[in-house]
Amino acid sequence: MKLSWRKTPIAGIIFEPGSSAEYRTGDWRIEKKPIINQDKCIRCLICWIICPDVSINRLQKPYGKYEETIEVDYYHCKGCGICSAECPVKAIEMVEESRVVA
Ligand code: SF4
Ligand code: SF4
Repeated sequence: MKLSWRKTPIAGIIFEPGSSAEYRTGDWRIEKKPIINQDKCIRCLICWIICPDVSINRLQKPYGKYEETIEVDYYHCKGCGICSAECPVKAIEMVEESRVVA
């Protein structure tokens, strides 16, 4: 959602709580994005718990012996790299945006 300054409430007051998901903060990412290696991931969910932007998704999509797939919500991930630093099995690599093929 785009707001012009004319439509911005005085003092930036938020009248509808829980609206942050509408803003695609992933656009703020400037250098690297996290890529999860599904084969290395042990579904410990540490990244899901610690991501400050709630940008790790648990999909009910089976993968190998696991019942779910862990994915990054790139619309909201800001590329801070915390998930990559904390993953106990180094399943998350921070990759230059320009190197990622969609
Ligand atoms: S922290 Fe690493 S191993 Fe754990 S769920 Fe996230 S990607 Fe998978
Ligand atoms: S890089 Fe930062 S914002 Fe993006 S998924 Fe990892 S912890 Fe969350």
